[in-house]
Amino acid sequence: MINQFQKAYKEKVEKEKIPLGKRPDWLKVKLPSGSNYSDVKDLMRKQKLHTVCEEAKCPNIAECWNHRTATFMILGDTCTRSCGFCNVKLGLPNELDLEEPKRVAESVQELNLRHVVITSVNRDELEDGGASIFSETIKLIRGKMPQTTIEILIPDFKGSEDAFGVIMQNPPDILNHNLETVPRLYSVVRPQAKYERSLNLINWFKQRNLKTKSGIMVGIGEKPEEVLNLMKDLVNSGCDILTIGQYLQPTKVHLPVDRFVPPEEFKMYKEKGLKMGFKVVESSPLVRSSYHADEHARAVF
Ligand code: SF4
Repeated sequence: MINQFQKAYKEKVEKEKIPLGKRPDWLKVKLPSGSNYSDVKDLMRKQKLHTVCEEAKCPNIAECWNHRTATFMILGDTCTRSCGFCNVKLGLPNELDLEEPKRVAESVQELNLRHVVITSVNRDELEDGGASIFSETIKLIRGKMPQTTIEILIPDFKGSEDAFGVIMQNPPDILNHNLETVPRLYSVVRPQAKYERSLNLINWFKQRNLKTKSGIMVGIGEKPEEVLNLMKDLVNSGCDILTIGQYLQPTKVHLPVDRFVPPEEFKMYKEKGLKMGFKVVESSPLVRSSYHADEHARAVF
């Protein structure tokens, strides 16, 4: 389901760009396998949980799951928004599963995670956008695994400070909210989001002394100078950690790749970002928001 802006953009990119053919070598990944991989997969099925690793077809799934790390996706598997890059199912969401926080906490314990990342679909039809389920999940994980650091990667909750307040009843260690792309591309990439609203969200939590994090994709139509401007906006909003990775088109109905960004450009973003004031910049082609998240947490605490 793509909107008119996304359709026009897709046609423009397809018309103007040389066909990209196969991916460059720096984007090749291993096929998932191994006993740890199978253990994580079995656990997710047993606990009836979703991971963004699978739903978003993350290219790092072999590496992460073999290290027994995964990013839990709560509030169901159906999203109320229609972002042009995302592979998560769209439509009318399921009923809220009030037992989900308990099963996530049990799984964190079973995997004995040092650091956990919890994200969710957008649930714009809910009064608090699902903030209370995030809060409950954090509380139950703290109860079972007090030494585990907790990162939540949240939707924008339509900018509701009431929803932010619900999160602060059980604050995470790291508050992550992705800007995803530069403001010029919001109408095609994140049509129901607002760039300033997302920056305000990061600043709101920073003012309450949380470590903050954000991430973007490149290769979806932005220019390098726009990326550098976005990075300055994030630093000025109090963002501590930044992730930058290559956009990969999950299926033919999603926005096309505009270009494969070379590794040198990722390196440039990292160097400039550290000079600007980020504490951590993870920037390379296969980086995703939760990639090496446990290392980021160690670096800021
Ligand atoms: S990078 Fe994140 S989403 Fe991808 S497999 Fe690793 S934990 Fe999952």
